[in-house]
Amino acid sequence: MIRENIERVQEEIWRAAERSGRRAEDITLCAVTKTVDAQAAQEVLDAGIVTLGENRVQSLLEKYEVLADRPDWHLIGHLQTNKVKYIIDKVSLIHSVESVHLAEEIDRKAKAHGIVQDILIEVNVAGETSKFGIRPEETERFLEQIAGLSNICVRGLMTIAPLPQKKGENRKYFSKLRELFVDIQSKKYDNSNIDILSMGMSRDYEEAVEEGATIVRVGTALFT
Ligand SMILES: *Cc1c(COP(=O)(O)O)cnc(C)c1O
Repeated sequence: MIRENIERVQEEIWRAAERSGRRAEDITLCAVTKTVDAQAAQEVLDAGIVTLGENRVQSLLEKYEVLADRPDWHLIGHLQTNKVKYIIDKVSLIHSVESVHLAEEIDRKAKAHGIVQDILIEVNVAGETSKFGIRPEETERFLEQIAGLSNICVRGLMTIAPLPQKKGENRKYFSKLRELFVDIQSKKYDNSNIDILSMGMSRDYEEAVEEGATIVRVGTALFT
C-alpha cells in the first residue's frame, strides 16, 4: 500500500508541476515517517524515496539506529538547542530554525564536526500563535543577524501552513512565502545559498507545488 500511495502522490506532484510550468525533478518528496516504524520507513526507501523527515529528535535517532545513513535525513520539527548535538552529524537539512540562539548552537556543533550544516528558516506565515517560526517581516533582519555564522548555510525557507477548512485556502500563504523567498534570493549574505522552499503537507502539497515548493513534506497521505 505504501508503494501505491507513493506512486499516487508523486503523480500528483508531477501534475501540479506541469500545471504550473515547472519541472517535476525540481521537487523533492520528503516522506514524513513520524507516525510509522523503521520497517515502514524502509519500505519507503525500497520504493525509491531518498528523503525522510522526522519532527522529533528521539524518533529520528531510533530510526537512525536501524537505517543509518541510507536515507537523506531531514529534521522538520521544532528543535531544542540542547538536542542539536545528537543530530548534527546525521541530518542533511534542518527545516526549523527560528531563533538566533538555535542557529548559533547549530553553527557551534557543526564547527566541532568540521562540517557546514544546511538549514532553513521557519516562517510563521499565517501568524498563528500556536506555531513556531519567525514573523515574515523579520526574515531579512534574522538573516542579517546570523550572517556571521560560517558553519551554517541558509538554503531557504520553510512553513507549516494552518489546517485548512477547505481546499485551496493555504495557497495565499504559500504564495506569500514564495515572494519572501524571491526577495531574500536577491540579497547577498555570506552564509546563504537560497534555493529551497519547503512547504506543503498531505492536505495541501499540490497547491504548494503550484506556488513554487521545492520540498513537500508528506506523511499521512503515504501511510493511510
Ligand atoms: C507531520 C508533519 C508533516 C506531515 O504532515 P502530514 O499532514 O501527515 O502530511 C509535515 N511537516 C511537519 C513539520 C510535520 O510535523
